[in-house]
Amino acid sequence: MHKKNPDINRQPSILDSPIEYLKGVGPLKGDMLRKELNIFTFRDLLEHFPLRHIDKTQVNLIRDISYQTEFIQVAGTIIKMEIMGEKRSKRLVAHLKDSSGILELTWFQGISWVEKTISTGQKYLVYGRTGFFNGKAQMTHPEIEPLADVNAEGKNFLEPIYPTTEKLKAKGLNARQIGKLTGTLLAQISERDIPDNIPTYLLEKLKFPTRYKALCDIHFPGNAASHKSAVNRLKFEEFFIAQVRLNLTRLNRHKTSRGVVFEKVGDLFNSFYNEHLPFSLTGAQKRVIKEIRTDTMRGHQMNRLLQGDVGSGKTIVALLCMLLAADNGYQSCIMAPTEILAQQHFNGLSVLLKDMPIEMRLLTGSTKTAERKKILKGLEDGSIHLLAGTHAVIEEKVQFKNLGLAIVDEQHRFGVAQRAALWKKAAVPPHILVMTATPIPRTLAMTAYGDLDYSIMDELPPGRQPITTVHRYETQRANVMDFIRSEIDKGRQAYVIYPLIEESEKLSYEDLMQGYEQVKSFFPEPKFYISMVHGRMPAEQKEINMQRFVKGDTQIMVSTTVIEVGVNVPNASVMVIESSEKFGLSQLHQLRGRVGRGSEKSFCILLTGSKVSNDGRERLKIMCATNDGFKIAEKDLELRGPGDIEGTRQSGVLNFKLASLVNDKPLLEAAKHYAEKILEKDEDLNHPKNQPLKDYLLSQKGKTIWSKIS
Ligand code: ADP
Ligand code: MG
Repeated sequence: MHKKNPDINRQPSILDSPIEYLKGVGPLKGDMLRKELNIFTFRDLLEHFPLRHIDKTQVNLIRDISYQTEFIQVAGTIIKMEIMGEKRSKRLVAHLKDSSGILELTWFQGISWVEKTISTGQKYLVYGRTGFFNGKAQMTHPEIEPLADVNAEGKNFLEPIYPTTEKLKAKGLNARQIGKLTGTLLAQISERDIPDNIPTYLLEKLKFPTRYKALCDIHFPGNAASHKSAVNRLKFEEFFIAQVRLNLTRLNRHKTSRGVVFEKVGDLFNSFYNEHLPFSLTGAQKRVIKEIRTDTMRGHQMNRLLQGDVGSGKTIVALLCMLLAADNGYQSCIMAPTEILAQQHFNGLSVLLKDMPIEMRLLTGSTKTAERKKILKGLEDGSIHLLAGTHAVIEEKVQFKNLGLAIVDEQHRFGVAQRAALWKKAAVPPHILVMTATPIPRTLAMTAYGDLDYSIMDELPPGRQPITTVHRYETQRANVMDFIRSEIDKGRQAYVIYPLIEESEKLSYEDLMQGYEQVKSFFPEPKFYISMVHGRMPAEQKEINMQRFVKGDTQIMVSTTVIEVGVNVPNASVMVIESSEKFGLSQLHQLRGRVGRGSEKSFCILLTGSKVSNDGRERLKIMCATNDGFKIAEKDLELRGPGDIEGTRQSGVLNFKLASLVNDKPLLEAAKHYAEKILEKDEDLNHPKNQPLKDYLLSQKGKTIWSKIS
């Protein structure tokens, strides 16, 4: 047997006792609690929180059950019990009768145990979710206990109902009985056993109960108000401790990491800024460049995340930062997740840099050996200043003379290990700027990236017209094609995108080919030309097809989602997304971001079949309603929960027991505020009044997040 959190720093506490030592548990139930609910110690039981409470004074009449009823508590006599059905449909059905009617109770599991514990003619208190079957009210697997027991307890009228399992129920640990164990436990411990982890002055300020009181009240509240403040206090605590840890990590990195110093803004930056910049920067772009400038002259390593909506103009920010590095005698690299994007960066930057004394090269998986050799040499002797590429850039053979800045575009495609490899490229680790066009909600960023420095670019360059987005059905395909034709007649271009079918690359491919033929039948040569790009295509051919579209030789691009990120063809004004219900919100937003990049009006058409799930419909509705990536991300978080959001790290920091990033934003904001304020004044938590917090963190040392890099 092993404990969940072995921890040598912690003083031995009664809470670390193995669960079987609790009165009423013993070896058998102890074993079950470990296996079924991961409850190993007293502490684990204390932190096994109730799902809800039922007000014991609230006993309803069976007659009151309606189609609107969800959960209800009733009391009555069991007048009949019988086993029905066979094998899989075998079930125990009992009839509970009160003064107003009869309710059917059904068990599919643990039948023999229920039969043994419940007898006809006895009175029971029953609680559960109601449903209707053949017009009759019924309850499946209800909580049930003899009415006499309930009256004998009497003292608490808000009774906790715990998560449990069928196996535990059969061993006498149902949703209510677990509460008896918790009661036994709470009777054995006192305030001393549960030291607080939030400083007293802060508790007083926020009017939160102590940790001890909160843990008592979350199980056995005196009333609804004390339950609520217990829950709030514990949610705040989760956020607060996480924020303190994240900020400590960030501060510690600032303190201990060495970073190259970009002392000056020199000729390269200035002459580009004054003579070659094709437009004036947005306020957001200027702000971010300033933040990066400040970061890179401090002498510690910058580790910054730049979140900017699609089309907010991150590339030029990247370029200016690379010029800043070059001004200080350092090399930089910019990495993209695909060859197409790397090539595009290279082409775009080449145009911008054409009159600048900067040597830039492109390195990808398909760079020819001879060229690669030259590049490797140029990087080592420092004659190449800037390297664009795919993750070929971080291969071990690639050595720089003095890499000072590494930029990672479209962050979520780069793994932690890959980024760590980047670190090893120089004696002093280069500054790192991670750019992502998958906005994530502020609350999520605060937790998922709280140990990084992050910048937000929430402003689009001026003169952009919002993209009009509509949902159309298959049956309207001919109209959609007519619309594309009218745009092409105006000299514009269009994308038609097919989903990647995850289970089968072959299916996706067939889908795409069929689509291609269909589009071709609407747009025959020689009047129209179509490019096609997909994942199975050799890189070279992809590139040729891409370039034909970029140059305007083809008017339509038919593709899978390889086109998703970053591709920039400002003349394209229509984005048609086939089977759009199959895409997630952030992906749809990314795809849509491929149009609306010039100054003319653009359109996004979301095609679907006639059948769309509710979730799918909701996503389409959101897409049609807004162009704001941050709003969409917010909705995405609401619909899917934090675990699935693209662009976030798979990380323990998001696993909150009680708190929710969707519903508890004010608590998170407060936790962040106070964590920062405390550490600002007392970075090492040496002040006596912050001792409770420090003690707690020390006792939990193994859990402190310690990542040098996101
Ligand atoms: P993203 O943030 O999606 O990577 P890009 O850097 O590709 O965006 O920029 C999108 C388009 O906007 C490009 O055509 C770029 O030249 C243009 N752009 C960027 N910044 C500005 C600006 N300040 N004013 C006008 N156009 C801009
Ligand atoms: Mg980009």
